[in-house]
Amino acid sequence: MAIERTFSMIKPDATRRNITGKIVDRLESAGLKVVAQKRILITKAQAEAFYGVHRERPFFGELVETMTSGPVVVQVLEGEGAILKNREVMGATNPAQAAEGTIRKDFAVSIGENSVHGSDAAETAKAEIAFFFSDIEITG
Ligand code: ATP
Ligand code: MG
Repeated sequence: MAIERTFSMIKPDATRRNITGKIVDRLESAGLKVVAQKRILITKAQAEAFYGVHRERPFFGELVETMTSGPVVVQVLEGEGAILKNREVMGATNPAQAAEGTIRKDFAVSIGENSVHGSDAAETAKAEIAFFFSDIEITG
C-alpha cells in the first residue's frame, strides 16, 4: 500500500474535555504521522461548506452547531494507507457501534459528539486538506 495523506479533525467535544493529546497518541501509535496541525475556531459558513454533503440530512443543523461550539484541531496525517487506517482507528460513526479500542468507542459522547472526523476516500482527503491547509503548512 502506498504512503497517503488524509485529513483529520479533533472535534469540539474532545477539545472541551482536554483530550487532544490522548487522541493524537492513538493516531501516532497506529503509525500515522501528524505532518500538519492547528487549533482553530471554524465559522458557521465553514462548517456548512465542509459538511455540505449532509446539507439535506435532518441532523445538519445540529452538526453545524456542534462543530462551531468550540475549538477544533485540524490535522494532516501521513502513513501507509493512511485514509483507511485513520478510519479504523476512529471507529464507527455511532460510538455505541464502534469496535473496542477505537477512539470513538473510548472517547465519543454520542453520534453527534463523536470526537473525531476523518476523510473517507482519496478525493475527499485531497479536498479536505486543501480546505484547511496550504502546501507550505504541511511538512513530512
Ligand atoms: P465524519 O464525516 O465526521 O468523519 P463519519 O464519516 O463517520 O463522520 P458521516 O456520515 O460523514 O459520518 O456523518 C458526519 C457527522 O455527522 C458524524 O461524524 C456525526 O457527528 C454527525 N452525524 C451523522 N449521523 C448523525 C445522526 N444520526 N445524528 C446526529 N449526528 C449525526
Ligand atoms: Mg464523513
